[in-house]
Amino acid sequence: MKVYISCDMEGATGVVRWEQVEHDKPEYEFGRAMQLHDLLAVAEAALECGADEVLVNDSHSRMINLDARRIPKGLRLVSGSGKYLSMMEQVEGADLAFFVCYHAKAGTLRAILDHTMSGNTFDLTLNGVSVGELGFNAAVAGHFGVPPALVTGDAAVCREAKSVFGDDVTTCVVKEGVARTSAVLLPPEETAALLQKAVKEAMARGRKAVPYRPAFPGRVALTVFNCAQADAAAGIPGTIRESGRTLTFEAKDAVEAYCWFRSALSLAGTVPR
Ligand SMILES: [Zn+2]
Repeated sequence: MKVYISCDMEGATGVVRWEQVEHDKPEYEFGRAMQLHDLLAVAEAALECGADEVLVNDSHSRMINLDARRIPKGLRLVSGSGKYLSMMEQVEGADLAFFVCYHAKAGTLRAILDHTMSGNTFDLTLNGVSVGELGFNAAVAGHFGVPPALVTGDAAVCREAKSVFGDDVTTCVVKEGVARTSAVLLPPEETAALLQKAVKEAMARGRKAVPYRPAFPGRVALTVFNCAQADAAAGIPGTIRESGRTLTFEAKDAVEAYCWFRSALSLAGTVPR
C-alpha cells in the first residue's frame, strides 16, 4: 500500500499564531519542529502498519519546512515549491491520502488560523458547495482515484473533514481552538500517541475509503476580499466575472479547476486586501 501525505503546518500540535508558521519570524522554529513532530508520528506509524511506500509532500508556504536530514529511512519527501499540483504534487498512484497538520477553511468559527490557500480568499465553492484547502486538495486526489483516509489538525478541520467526506474518514484532533489564534493544547507525547492510533485506524479501514469526487465538468467560484483583487484576476481566459468580488470558471476536471483557482488567487494577491 502506498500512502501519500500532504503536510501543512497550521494544524500542528502546539501551533496557534501566524508567527509560528512564518519563516522570517523567530517563532517559526517552534512551528517547524511541531510540524515535523506530527509528521514523524504519522509517517512512522504508516510504515509500521505495513505501508510499502510513504511519500510526504511539504505543503506549507515555501514548502521547504521539513528538514530532509530528519526524514526516517523508507520515507520519500517532495520538498520545494513551483510544483504544478502544489499541495497535492505526486499524489497520482497512491492508495490513500493523509492530510496532516491541516487547518479549517476561511470563515470557520474557533478554527486555528483558518484560511483557504491564502488570506485573500473570502470563499471558494465547487458546484456551489463551499470548500477549503482540505476539500479542494481532496478533489484533486479524487481525480486520480485516491481517497482521503486521515485528517489531522484542530477540532474545526476534523469537523470539516467529516462534513465533506462523511464518517469513513479518520480524524485526529491535536488541539481545540478557542479563537482564531488561541487553542487548548495537548502535550506532544499525547498527540503523538493519538496520531499513531489514528493512522492504525485509517489504514485498517483504508480499503473502504471512497475518493472525494465533486461532479465535473463543474463550476469553481472564488470570492476575494475586494473588487480590485477580482479586477486583477478577471482577465484569465475563460473567467466569468460573476459580481464585484466573485469570479467563476467552468472546469473540465478537478485539476483544471485547481490550476485556475491558484492562478486567479495569485493574481488577486497582487492587490492589497
Ligand atoms: Zn499552511
